[in-house]
Amino acid sequence: MTCPVLGSIFIHRDRKIPDITNQGVLRGEEAMKIKKGDHVVVITGDDESSSPRLVLQVLAGGQKMVIQGVNQVYKHVKRGHPKSPSGGRLQIEMPIQSSNVMYYCESCQKPTRLGLRYDDDGAKVRYCKKCDTSCGEAISPKRTKYAKAGS
Ligand SMILES: [Zn+2]
Repeated sequence: MTCPVLGSIFIHRDRKIPDITNQGVLRGEEAMKIKKGDHVVVITGDDESSSPRLVLQVLAGGQKMVIQGVNQVYKHVKRGHPKSPSGGRLQIEMPIQSSNVMYYCESCQKPTRLGLRYDDDGAKVRYCKKCDTSCGEAISPKRTKYAKAGS
């Protein structure tokens, strides 16, 4: 393989070469299935429960997410903090690994897995693998910055 800058370069046969499609999205990377505003069920960990909870934020390209009432910590703040002008303890949610949650399907009222397909207009949409209902458009993975939780 020849590179215009470096000339001939050696690439290990087993090494994965990032393959960028015309949309600027890394191929081979799965589209983010769960997005902000969805409901999920936490299936493992300290906050494991069968009740659906709201996703507040999706971070790190879909690998982590902040879920309402899950992984709550106390943050001690000084006076003048915008969320607590008198200071004290603020209860905020910290992100958890996305592998610990399952998407909650509103139409079949069950935790389920999502599939991806193209609808008649050519848009990539998610669908419930249990009841086959479409669950809105899928979003392409984006390298999101590790944002501060609760902000
Ligand atoms: Zn369903």
